[in-house]
Amino acid sequence: MNRFHGIELNPGTAAFLARTQRMLIGGEWVEASSGASLPVIDPASNEAFCHVPAGDAADIERAVAAARQAFESGEWPRHRPVDRERLLLRLADLLEAHAQEFAELEALDNGKPVMVARHVDVALSIDFIRYMAGWATKIEGHTMELSVPLVREREFFGFTRREPVGVVGAIIPWNFPLLMAVWKVAPALAAGCTMILKPAEDTPLSALRLGELALEAGYPAGVLNVVTGLGHTAGAALAAHPGIQKIAFTGSTEVGKLVGKAAMENMTRVSLELGGKSPVIVLDDVDPATAAAGAAQAIFFNQGQVCTAGSRLYVHKSRFDAVVEALSGIAAGMRLGPGIDPATQIGPLVSKVQQGRVMDYVKSGFAEGARAAAGGAVGEGPGCFVQPTVLVDVREDMRVVREEIFGPVVVAQPFDDVEEIARRANDTPYGLAASIWSNDLSRVHRLIPKIKAGTVWVNCHNIIENVMPFGGFKQSGIGREAGRSALELYTEPKSVIMML
Ligand code: NDP
Repeated sequence: MNRFHGIELNPGTAAFLARTQRMLIGGEWVEASSGASLPVIDPASNEAFCHVPAGDAADIERAVAAARQAFESGEWPRHRPVDRERLLLRLADLLEAHAQEFAELEALDNGKPVMVARHVDVALSIDFIRYMAGWATKIEGHTMELSVPLVREREFFGFTRREPVGVVGAIIPWNFPLLMAVWKVAPALAAGCTMILKPAEDTPLSALRLGELALEAGYPAGVLNVVTGLGHTAGAALAAHPGIQKIAFTGSTEVGKLVGKAAMENMTRVSLELGGKSPVIVLDDVDPATAAAGAAQAIFFNQGQVCTAGSRLYVHKSRFDAVVEALSGIAAGMRLGPGIDPATQIGPLVSKVQQGRVMDYVKSGFAEGARAAAGGAVGEGPGCFVQPTVLVDVREDMRVVREEIFGPVVVAQPFDDVEEIARRANDTPYGLAASIWSNDLSRVHRLIPKIKAGTVWVNCHNIIENVMPFGGFKQSGIGREAGRSALELYTEPKSVIMML
């Protein structure tokens, strides 16, 4: 298994794939309790290339017990902030040393272009772990001057502490498998929590390899557990487990609601990073070629399987035809191919299921009167390819305009004035992100507060930064990952009042 699609793998990737894959529980590599396994499919060929354990509720039980033990006793609680910082830095160094291997695993498992995996997923993951390592020594409380009314003769002293929230369950999606794992693992471990990570069934490999590196970095047994398995078994058992104190979820709004409800039964702290239908708003001062290149990046990056994908394009009517023509030209010229091939610009979607979902949307658009200015069909061969697609002649009530497609499909519409565009941009249950394209500072600044979204980009889209809080308004989620806010998700404030 050294070559895929004619491309020779890095020796580290080949060696990893040659091993029998097991899950990490309590520092041991184990089979699923049931003995069952799941195939891992290469979406460029739709063929299985390895298997992972199909963990279920029994394995979640074991993992929660291991994480609980590691949280309460043994070496981990004695790790000082500086020790936690050092371990994260070591993990980042190891990830950097194995960067190509991780990029190839993501390309094979998810289908994404290997260059994107290397320079976005893996590069951001390394930086993010280093950024979070710095926070381990900067978790602070405050001191307060108190004014206790009844006991005026005594002095009081108040202070707050931020303590690790406890055992964390993380359920992650398949679109950025490593990065989404790291977005949860790094702040949780910086804060002193222990955790159980459940990767998506379609993309389990980088999480397992990350588990290997965590042991190599020196994390004590049980601090990071990785349980592979299905969402409705392993994932649901994790979300509903009374032994965890926090659940961090990224995925669809539908499953996010199920996870949130299950968590609430036990008052488990919950953060949800969910779907989106993000608008790309092009004002009338922008050069059409610049707008088209930006819009293409906004929707076609990662085959459109991005929660912040710019899937609704609104262009001022004076530029609409020119932007659509240029965007369609870019879409038609993109090179489809297996993610592992460095020449590929658009890889396959993650699975046949996702390809089917996306094509159902495209067909529903056609049935409701939309027209493809580019694409509109699957790619050639057995892989899960969908052509980059630009739909025009759409109306606000069509499913392709209202629902998250999660594929390389953008709906383009003209608009007349800036007041109208704010209303249309917000006419969605989602509120994850938006981009505004213009160099007219006054109009941009007036538009920013009107847009109901967790992130607003100006003259760019899909720029993710470690220091910036990331999350959604409305049905796009609860809580903010990244930046200082991430630490708040994994710590619990405690107020201390002392009578002196
Ligand atoms: P899901 O929301 O189903 O999957 C996300 C994670 O949740 C996976 O690990 C999944 O496991 C797990 N999961 C599934 N069901 C449950 C459950 N009942 N309890 C606990 N965990 C569960 O996304 P899909 O993969 O099904 O994709 C469907 C749609 O979701 C996409 O088309 C897209 O619209 C959206 N999506 C949004 C993402 C985002 O970043 N906001 C990311 C991925 C998808 P398993 O993999 O085994 O199903």
